[in-house]
Amino acid sequence: MSVRGLRVIEIINKIADDIEKNKMYLTELDAAIGDGDHGLNMSKGFLAVKEKLKDDDGNNIGDILKKTGMALVSNVGGASGPLYGTAFMKAAMVVNGKKEIEIEDFKQVLEAALEGIKIRGKAKLNEKTIIDALEPAVEALKNALDNGSNAEEALKKAVNAAETGVEHTKDIIATKGRASYLGERSIGHQDPGAASCLLILKTIYNEISC
Ligand code: ADP
Ligand code: MG
Ligand code: MG
Repeated sequence: MSVRGLRVIEIINKIADDIEKNKMYLTELDAAIGDGDHGLNMSKGFLAVKEKLKDDDGNNIGDILKKTGMALVSNVGGASGPLYGTAFMKAAMVVNGKKEIEIEDFKQVLEAALEGIKIRGKAKLNEKTIIDALEPAVEALKNALDNGSNAEEALKKAVNAAETGVEHTKDIIATKGRASYLGERSIGHQDPGAASCLLILKTIYNEISC
């Protein structure tokens, strides 16, 4: 598997389209335990991303991810903007100057994204956030690659782990972000940020495996 810059842009555009399709779903999840804007925030952010990448020549994948992160940070008012924005900007650093990336690069991209979110949001696993989808996905991807899986298999395992992680957010109390105001009443509801993270990973898997 080798993915060139222009293909990375196509995949990011597809993420934007899938976010748009799931805008109301993400917003409903957020209405239950937050302020009901997660889908709207993500949609607004990714529309800005699409616009920003329109004229990109695809020659530097680091640049593509940096532009994506900057568009998210500067166009999303909610917590998810700076969090996902930092994730993309941190990820940009590990592939700076690259015209194409392999699955090993993507592993590092995802690790850097997770680290960025952790540093920015100061949250860890089991606080009912994006991390509950992303961290299991990163671990599953690493394990699969270490055990000889190919890119498609490893990405599938990452998606499955993120899915389990999202399900698990229903069973735990939010201790970060707006949902933490609800305390125990946040139990029984899925975290919207974990759900959007799963959505992004699914799109990447679908695009790589077709
Ligand atoms: P806001 O809460 O400002 O309205 P959004 O609704 O767009 O922003 O995003 C909410 C999501 O952000 C939550 O579902 C959660 O996954 C994520 N989130 C909030 N705070 C943190 C944090 N400190 N670390 C990681 N993720 C967080
Ligand atoms: Mg919200
Ligand atoms: Mg908000």
